[in-house]
Amino acid sequence: MPQKVIDTIRQTPKTLFSFELLPPLKGKDIDGLYATIDRLVEFKPPFINITYHREEVVYQPLKNGLMQKKTVRKRPGTVAIAAAIRYKYDIPVVPHMICGGFSREETENALLDLHFLGIDNVLALRGDPAKSERGFVPDPGGNRYAVELVRQIMDLNRGKYLDPELVNTHPTRFSVGVAGYPEKHIEAPNPEQDLAYLKEKVDAGADYIVTQLFFDNAKYFDFVRRCREAGIEVPIIPGLKPIATQGHLSLLPQVFNIDIPQELARAVMACKNSAEVMQVGVEWAIQQSRELVQFGAPVIHFYTMGKADNVRQIAQAVF
Ligand code: FAD
Repeated sequence: MPQKVIDTIRQTPKTLFSFELLPPLKGKDIDGLYATIDRLVEFKPPFINITYHREEVVYQPLKNGLMQKKTVRKRPGTVAIAAAIRYKYDIPVVPHMICGGFSREETENALLDLHFLGIDNVLALRGDPAKSERGFVPDPGGNRYAVELVRQIMDLNRGKYLDPELVNTHPTRFSVGVAGYPEKHIEAPNPEQDLAYLKEKVDAGADYIVTQLFFDNAKYFDFVRRCREAGIEVPIIPGLKPIATQGHLSLLPQVFNIDIPQELARAVMACKNSAEVMQVGVEWAIQQSRELVQFGAPVIHFYTMGKADNVRQIAQAVF
């Protein structure tokens, strides 16, 4: 199996199944992740993504009634987890790298860790604003936009490190994916400008795009058409998440800036219990997936959120 996502896509004519995992919450073991992979590995994912979670500021009450400000990282371990999965299952991994919370120096060091571990794929992201901030604030000396991170990775691929005095440097060989938003990124002034920034990421060297989750395939088809018209020619991997709770109806649009089609919303609202909601979510995602396969999507990327059962049912019906 080729190690780079882009080579896998180029060499495989059919739609592939893939998924992303969250590192466990601090205090939990990695076994839960392995259990998820064990339930999905039979559908032959050519790669598995591992998300990255930046530190958060929390306020804890003290005995004297005052609050203490603390910085915590609730889901550490992306790099280690990626390596553990890569070698336990012999499946390529795509750790996510974000700009937020990293200086460029720290980014370079993290990329070198990945390189030395034999990991040649990354998904390059900006990351969301810290919960304590209204807008995204880069670290001092850090990348402000994902495009800058892509450029830094491409520099390393050419052997260009941050320290200009290093000579005879060894180049890395990363294949880089970036995020795309069929329904527009929440901060973008309009879809055209969002697409122009996406094109910058591709022109900087990104090999492929993974989309934000969506529930209406027409949005993805239109996005692919607009990308092609704008001269973005790289593969565009659709991201799907099966609805699993009634709460998702208000939560997902708020967090991801997406619409939920009325037909799906009505079906979810009519459910009497969580098992019924789960089933509606699975059936919707199966229909979406079948249509995406027919369209010729290179891969379908499932956001598992740590839950394998519904994604397994979808994979059984489609792959
Ligand atoms: P960018 O491409 O930098 O875009 C951010 C915003 O800035 C957009 O509104 C864009 O239009 C605008 N913009 C871009 N370039 C410029 C420019 N040059 N000048 C002015 N404006 C510009 N987050 C995590 O924290 N961890 C994860 O693991 C993670 N995984 C994700 C996986 C996928 C597939 C997706 C779709 C998202 C993921 N996210 C993750 C969320 C992501 O970090 C957020 O959506 C974030 O707000 C934007 O990231 P980006 O890489 O798209 O940013």
